Amino acid sequence: MFYQLAVNFCILFTFSVLSYWPFQDRARFRVPFPRFHPILIGVMAGITGLFLLDSSVTVADKVIVDARLPVIILSGVFGGPVPPIISSLIIAIDRIILGGFGDEALIAGSNTFLIGAAAAIIFTWRGASFRTARFVFHYATVQTGLVIIYLSPEGSDKILNVFIFAVYSYISFFTIAFLLAELSGHFRKLAGIEQLSRTDYLTGLNNNRTFGELSESLLNGEGSVALIVLDIDRFKSVNDTYGHPAGDEVLRELAFRLKNIRLPKGAVLSRNGGEEFSVLLPGADKQEAAEAAENIRQTVCGNPFILEGGLSLTITVSLGVSAHPEDTTSAKHLYELADKALYRAKNSGRNRVAVYGTQPVG
Ligand code: GH3
Ligand code: MG
Ligand code: MG
Repeated sequence: MFYQLAVNFCILFTFSVLSYWPFQDRARFRVPFPRFHPILIGVMAGITGLFLLDSSVTVADKVIVDARLPVIILSGVFGGPVPPIISSLIIAIDRIILGGFGDEALIAGSNTFLIGAAAAIIFTWRGASFRTARFVFHYATVQTGLVIIYLSPEGSDKILNVFIFAVYSYISFFTIAFLLAELSGHFRKLAGIEQLSRTDYLTGLNNNRTFGELSESLLNGEGSVALIVLDIDRFKSVNDTYGHPAGDEVLRELAFRLKNIRLPKGAVLSRNGGEEFSVLLPGADKQEAAEAAENIRQTVCGNPFILEGGLSLTITVSLGVSAHPEDTTSAKHLYELADKALYRAKNSGRNRVAVYGTQPVG
């Protein structure tokens, strides 16, 4: 019996780890057709249930024990109320067929489906989570325990049958739930760290590394790409006069304005370091980029930056513009040319736009 239960558990374990892995590691896997995930999960859990029934353990005449409860209930954690209904229906039909449509089979099958239906209601009511799954599991164990007592034939040890069922169900459910919860937490943290490594902590914009990757991939694609590089004028004096925290506030406010300004569609904003920002404009030509840059310049200098404590600062930025393919076809070079133009904007008085290859304006 123990060997059989171990086989049953291995089926549950293998299914749980392999089939939920892609749904948990969202940073790496994109399972297509998200709308159909609940159905997919329900069918997978149902098929696993068929294997579980095949390797179930007979504890008394017509009384069988297997890990169908964990598989039905855990499907709800990942897919909400739909998978428990689908999986319990598949398993219930199989149980009835395997039991030759006898009374016991009908009762056991109905019990399985009722648990799936109850799980669906509870997952809808309390949300799809491991906590809800534990709640559903306790309920399902009590209900199934009662059914096992009812179905156990006279002369068999009813309490022992329920005991074997309960111990096996608890061990299998809590082991798998613990493992999956650990994996979920692990993947969530990993996704968070990955996100952090791509974004600038202060402004939430792309960081320089992400900027590099995106500009490379944009320039490798079809179509034109323009680049605006902007740098705050005399920012050191803001820090020196009002302190570093005030400087940080200016950087956050500038990022906020960049995010909210009307820019050509698909604009990619990054903070490339210090008080230097960039805007990649896929599909834009030099003229459009120059207009966007001028728009940014005016949005920055047009309204003072109001900092905590009511401090009002007028901030200006200088901007350099370059474009692919007019100026270059290399991402690195595109940046260098925009930076060159920015340098010219600084040298010709700041608070202005310089377009590579043309005279400064603004
Ligand atoms: P310019 O008009 O020539 O650009 O002058 P600038 O003072 O803006 O340029 P400079 O390169 O001399 O100084 C940049 C300053 O930006 C120096 C540094 O203290 C400040 N800075 C860089 N990163 C941060 C940051 O994360 N927070 C704050 N508050 N200041 C920063
Ligand atoms: Mg500066
Ligand atoms: Mg600078």
